[in-house]
Amino acid sequence: MTAAPELLMPAGDMEKMKYAFAFGADAVYLGIPRFSLRARENGFKKLEQVAEAISYAHQLGKKVYVTANIFPHNSKLPSFTKYIAELLALCRPDAWIMSDPGLIMMMQEHFPQEVIHMSVQSNTLNYASVKFWQKMGIKRIIVSREISIKEIKEIHEACPDMELESFIHGAICMAYSGRCLISNYLSHRDSNQGVCTNSCRWEYKVYKKEGVQEETAYQPLLDQYYLKESERPDDLFELDEDEHGSYLMNSKDLCAIASLGELQEAGVCSFKVEGRSKSVYYVAMIARAYRRAMDDLATGRPFNPQHMKDIFATSNRGFIEGFLYGNPGDVGQEYLTSNSEYSTYRYVALVKGYDKDRQRLNLRIGNPIKVGQTYELCLPQQDELFTVEELFDEKGNSVKLVHGGISSCWIKFPKDPGPFAVIREAIKFF
Ligand code: SF4
Repeated sequence: MTAAPELLMPAGDMEKMKYAFAFGADAVYLGIPRFSLRARENGFKKLEQVAEAISYAHQLGKKVYVTANIFPHNSKLPSFTKYIAELLALCRPDAWIMSDPGLIMMMQEHFPQEVIHMSVQSNTLNYASVKFWQKMGIKRIIVSREISIKEIKEIHEACPDMELESFIHGAICMAYSGRCLISNYLSHRDSNQGVCTNSCRWEYKVYKKEGVQEETAYQPLLDQYYLKESERPDDLFELDEDEHGSYLMNSKDLCAIASLGELQEAGVCSFKVEGRSKSVYYVAMIARAYRRAMDDLATGRPFNPQHMKDIFATSNRGFIEGFLYGNPGDVGQEYLTSNSEYSTYRYVALVKGYDKDRQRLNLRIGNPIKVGQTYELCLPQQDELFTVEELFDEKGNSVKLVHGGISSCWIKFPKDPGPFAVIREAIKFF
């Protein structure tokens, strides 16, 4: 058994990063907008924000990897080294996550001391590719999502000195991670430039030409339709939809929590979670679930299915193990909906402070909260059920209900739960 792997969480902004660390991450990755695949919804638009994040992480003894994994056109090249030089004048990332060979070459020529991890965008599937990147001075490979545990093990045996990182949780593309043009085609936003619109998960309906502009003109498909390729007359691909449309490109999400031991045995040193645009709540719950599973693993305890409670408490499209045990086939798709219908909890609020004198928690509200309802206060180490007895609006007026769109409110609470408390509400039995 190799050394305990790290838990690597996404950090879409400073707050998410802090919760990721509080709930168990060893390291985070964050993107610099101009050169990473999170151009939108990125809380690290300024160099100073990246520097602040790295300083915070290093004070905790944790790591920050900075993604610069875009596939740039010529126009973006001249500013690259200038941008990196300015960032390095402020801080020192623990590594750079990169994919474009040209940018990697520029990084190595201008900043040879920098550590480079090969992004999943490079789709590294075999040990020959790993050896190639090793010769190019790459320290770690983030293996392709479209690879099995058996293949990871073969790579590790062929290249034992190369660090291997593997995605263990989160959304999956229906193409080789990110290398698709659906978003370009449908909305002129290029996934390889960091502006994917998730077009694969849109709700598609078949319309007759005259009905395209009018929602009311939609008629459900009543007959059966098939796609047939001329050389394969026996392979019929069914086309179907109901009144909600169809989601024929909508992959279920990856969840490898029960496979961490096998991944570690195969040589993976870093367990990575997808989702820089996901919520603080998502980051906290997923970090906690995997932290607990990894702690069990480190002490020889078997996988505890109870860790799935936090996994199912977040929005998801249903789970598969990706390609870890081979091609998932059509069970890998969620055809009926692109929204989460499997979540067992609804996120309600983040605790933003405690008024000791008045014994009130200050909440930043995400979803409605009301008097008399029971909620769960989630802390990094434990949960606590409580019922809201008194509720106050932003101005301190006593109210019975606060709606989700309101920015903050107060509830009576007997003690200060500390800086990283999250409130959720059970909506289904786990
Ligand atoms: S459109 Fe879908 S499959 Fe394509 S890059 Fe975006 S998320 Fe991935």
